[in-house]
Amino acid sequence: MTAPIKLLSARSAWHPTALLVVLTVWLGTVGNFPFWMAIWKLPETEGFRALTTMASLWLILLGLVGWFLCLWVWPRWLKPAAVAMLLTVTSSSYFMLTYGVVIDPSMLANVVQTDVREVRDLLSWPMLMALVVGVILPGIWLWRQPVRAVNAKPLILRQLGVSLLALLVALGLFWMSFQDIASLTRNHKHLRYMINPFNSVYAVTRLFVGQAAQAAQPLQAIGDDAKVVAPVSTADQAPLVVFVLGETARAANFGLSGYARDTTPQLRKLQTQGDLTYFSDVKSCGTSTQASVPCMFSHLGKAAHEGNQQRFESLLDVLQRAGLAVLWLDNQSGCKGVCDRVPNVSTTALNVPEFCKDGECLDEVMLHELPKQLAALDPAKRAKGTVVVMHQMGSHGPAYYKRSPDAIKQFLPECSSHALQNCPPEQIVNAYDNSILYADHFIAKTVHWLQAQSRPTALMYMSDHGESLGEKGLYLHGMPYSMAPKEQTHVPMVVWLSKPMQRQRGWSMSCLQAQSGKALSHDNLFHSVLGLAQVQTRLAKPELDIFSACSAAR
Ligand SMILES: [Zn+2]
Repeated sequence: MTAPIKLLSARSAWHPTALLVVLTVWLGTVGNFPFWMAIWKLPETEGFRALTTMASLWLILLGLVGWFLCLWVWPRWLKPAAVAMLLTVTSSSYFMLTYGVVIDPSMLANVVQTDVREVRDLLSWPMLMALVVGVILPGIWLWRQPVRAVNAKPLILRQLGVSLLALLVALGLFWMSFQDIASLTRNHKHLRYMINPFNSVYAVTRLFVGQAAQAAQPLQAIGDDAKVVAPVSTADQAPLVVFVLGETARAANFGLSGYARDTTPQLRKLQTQGDLTYFSDVKSCGTSTQASVPCMFSHLGKAAHEGNQQRFESLLDVLQRAGLAVLWLDNQSGCKGVCDRVPNVSTTALNVPEFCKDGECLDEVMLHELPKQLAALDPAKRAKGTVVVMHQMGSHGPAYYKRSPDAIKQFLPECSSHALQNCPPEQIVNAYDNSILYADHFIAKTVHWLQAQSRPTALMYMSDHGESLGEKGLYLHGMPYSMAPKEQTHVPMVVWLSKPMQRQRGWSMSCLQAQSGKALSHDNLFHSVLGLAQVQTRLAKPELDIFSACSAAR
């Protein structure tokens, strides 16, 4: 292949379409390295049949990439477009190879919502190497090639002709090997999301078209009938409910779930004292913050939320409308729109030296800020009751080792690289488990603070999604839900009620304990918080409110 290309470039400048063909071969072959690796590793790709399947897949892919490029890459922007394609395909390949992820709309949404500190966590030497090999070297080569000036009309006709031919070849071959390919993609759905550059193109189109359509919708108010059912007579009887929105904590490594390591000693102590219940079978709505958080605070529930194109207010709007004081404290990359209309504070802006370093804060910073931020809320609303959300940094990866202070770390040595696959698996787990230990410390410390308040208080904790720590070659999270492993969707959930709260409501912890093994999900959050905050609205579904059983049992 290389010899005729050299000859051609030495003799004359490239015909633009010929240069596109070279780019097509690069993108279809090197640019799809993770895809070919994945195919190669499949159990069914063995023997002669496997070779023919791979060969026809390769030709189909070349045909499709050629068709796609010939459609829109014209000489005027050939070189920048080629570099953009190299960059897209290389970054997508790098993340697929490094973390075992695939590229779909929700993964892309994750990337788009990522803030600077998270990007910093992902940068590493292997990533730089990938960029050199996949973008810089081929990019420089391509940029330096002379391209022949060709008359527009014949060029357009010829290139569209090549495009059509490439598509026909691809479709013909696909038709001929349909049986093999169909069974391959049926059995291994993730392969579809590994094909560069179509995975990225599909994700971008789906995401931005979807987002634009939703953004154009008017915001719809929900729970316009919301009211507090049992208003308290004195301000010191007004309940204070804290919801700790966990980050990337998976149930599998949560001490209370029966994990071999006791990663939650302080919560266990509270459980032994009888005021805390751990829920062992809770499913997340999504596998990323971007997918889960809006879903958790939506009245729709997972099934309806996913197909929904309308814009609705969130749980926090309903609580506020009922007259309660509401506060969102954020130690993460924002509340994904759910706290836009209630008082909200980001810890990065506060920059408390005791807990923050290099623009990142340990979760305790939120507790440190809590009394001051509560005092700043409307006193008339506080007299009715308060709901606070604390959005944790939790176990956000890949830099797990940054998620716990030295004093907390018990499991050593830790993986202190961002390129997880370079660390021994046990060091990744050590760093992750230390982050759970710190979450245990943070939640228990919040409970102790709530215990010291004279009013009825409660704490509810739920993680937004889980995490893969190298099982089946997967790292991090964000797999499409239908193919996500349990590690990414099985999340821990905890409820603690103060004695004054138990007395005020007439609830016994045993009625919560009775539900601790029930199959629950993020769908229960909206309705349970309404129950906990004693807010009545026709949106409320008592069957999804874990506290309704306790009220009924009174
Ligand atoms: Zn998350």
